[in-house]
Order: sequence, then structure tokens, then C-alpha cells
Amino acid sequence: METSLSYLRQSGSIQTDTKLIYKYMEYQVLLYYKFVSIADPQAVRDEHYAKCQSLNLKGRILIATEGINGTVSGLKADTEAYMEWMSQHDLFAGTEFKIDEYDRHAFLKLHVRVKNEVVRFNLPNTVQEYGTGKFVEPEEFRNAIKEAQTNPNIVILDTRSEYEFNVGKFKNAVTLPIDNFRELTDCMEEMEQLRGKQIYSYCTGGIRCEKITGWLAHQGFDIYQLHGGIIRYGKEVGGEDFDGQCYVFDQRVVVPINQVNPNVIGHCFVCDNTTEKMINCANALCNNHILICETCFHELEGCCSEECTHSEQKRAFNPDGYFLRGVNSKNYVK
Ligand SMILES: [Zn+2]
Ligand SMILES: [Zn+2]
Repeated sequence: METSLSYLRQSGSIQTDTKLIYKYMEYQVLLYYKFVSIADPQAVRDEHYAKCQSLNLKGRILIATEGINGTVSGLKADTEAYMEWMSQHDLFAGTEFKIDEYDRHAFLKLHVRVKNEVVRFNLPNTVQEYGTGKFVEPEEFRNAIKEAQTNPNIVILDTRSEYEFNVGKFKNAVTLPIDNFRELTDCMEEMEQLRGKQIYSYCTGGIRCEKITGWLAHQGFDIYQLHGGIIRYGKEVGGEDFDGQCYVFDQRVVVPINQVNPNVIGHCFVCDNTTEKMINCANALCNNHILICETCFHELEGCCSEECTHSEQKRAFNPDGYFLRGVNSKNYVK
């Protein structure tokens, strides 16, 4: 049977069956990183930008002397071509990709940028100098979560920021007061209480843990890291014991992880009812990135407080929309 898009157009079915269109307009979202020494990040950046543009990929890629950190979306065939190109690349062969299917682009634009670090921790040494923590595969991590419930010497540690773990985290995970202005390395007081314990750390895709666990091991901590992060854990072991949803840095905002024993842990910033809807306050001067229930979202016209509804910088209300973290009104997501 002929199944190409042009055939569907000719046959007229493309106008009549939207489900059929989606079936043949398959997109994928890729999440990946690799720590590798890059001598000329600018040249690699330019090469990468040209490649991604030619494949019509959108997303955000950071390149530094310590490696690459990216998340991009595109048509399935284009993302496959990108992964194939990466696998042949002198620097990036062996990069592990977390792949999600989607029905459209998860980003509005393509940004490829040179940075000092691919994950900003302001560490005095590089990953290449410190090495990384010990990897733990999803199945072993799942056992550690269960064991941590009865064994006080086993700790599950969330290395992500507060707005991320507010909408989802592993059962009984220890979280740290990390926000925009505070890095994990500023939480050493809290970390000291975990010294001597077996620490199983995790983050979204693994990159933050990979960077921080090497440094913490160097500081004498007994620390392991979940290989591939929450995203891979969801795919390999069904996301068991992950409460809520996983925050992601694209237009999906959150993605489901747990197919085994799912629940909702997010609470409305305004009224405390359970919710998984995340917005940026519609007041551009506030931009508070919060969880909000549908009732409060409508009553406050997309703002985080009564006060914000009176702001002159309040953006137009879109009942179906949400704001991405740090994104202004012209990039409003529908
Ligand atoms: Zn509410
Ligand atoms: Zn606000």
C-alpha cells in the first residue's frame, strides 16, 4: 500500500482524516549529552548549527570545551538522520539519545550556543578532571528506591531545581533548595547530612548528575547516579515509584513517566489544590514559574496573584496556553 504523504494528499484523505495526517507527520524529541574535550567550540557550534538547520531541527544545543548538551525536535526521519550523523562524528560518536515521539515540534526556534559549561555549576574543575559518579541502571535504581524506604543508609537524591521536583519526583527522594539563584554546590550544608550514606542521585536526562557526582565523589561522598535520568527510567522500567510528572525544557513542559503506579503530587501555588499545570505568571514583570489549578488560572487571568492581575505588563490571557520558563509573550505557546 502506498503510504507517502504525497499519496495521501493526492488521494484526498489528508483533508478528511487528521489522525491519518499525524500518523504520517511523526515528530521526535531528542535529549542527549556527551562529555568530550572540544578544542574549538565555536567551529563545532557553526558546524552543528548548519547541520540542524539543513534538517529543520529546532531546539537548544549548548557546546563548551567540556562537551555537548542538547534537546531538539524534528520530523522522525530528520531526527534519525541527525543521530546517524552524530554517530559518525569524530567527537560525538557514542552519544546516547533519549527519544520521545510527539505530533509536532517541541520548540519554536533553533539555538546553538557556545558556553563555558554545558551544565552551569561553576565548578573549579572540569568533568574530564574529576571523572563521573558510578552509574546505576534503571532496574537497580528501582530496587534502591524500595530499599530506601526501610534502610536509612540509602538515600534517593534529587539534583534538580524546586520548580521541577514540585511537579514530580521519586518516592521519598531528598530534595535540595535549588532555584534560579542557587546552585547545587551552594547546598553543601544539606549535603553534609548525607555524608556516609549510599546516595542514589538522579536528574532529568543524567547530565547534571554526571557532572555533580564526580565532584561530590571527589569530596568523599558515596554517590551513584541514575544512568539516562528519569526519562530513560520511564522507558526501561515503566517509571515505577516516580510520583507526578517529569518537567522538561520544551513546550511540553511536563511529560508522563509512571505507567505502573502513577499519581499527582503538584499543588496549586494559589489555593493548594492538586494540579499539574505549569505557567509563567502572565505579568511579564513577575514571570513567576508556578503550578496552578484551572480555577485559579482562570480567576487570576493567568497570573500568580491578585496583585499581578493589575500590572501594566500583564500579557493577554489564553485559556489553552501556558508560558515557558523565561519566555516572553511573543513566544506564547498555543
Ligand atoms: Zn488553585
Ligand atoms: Zn505574578
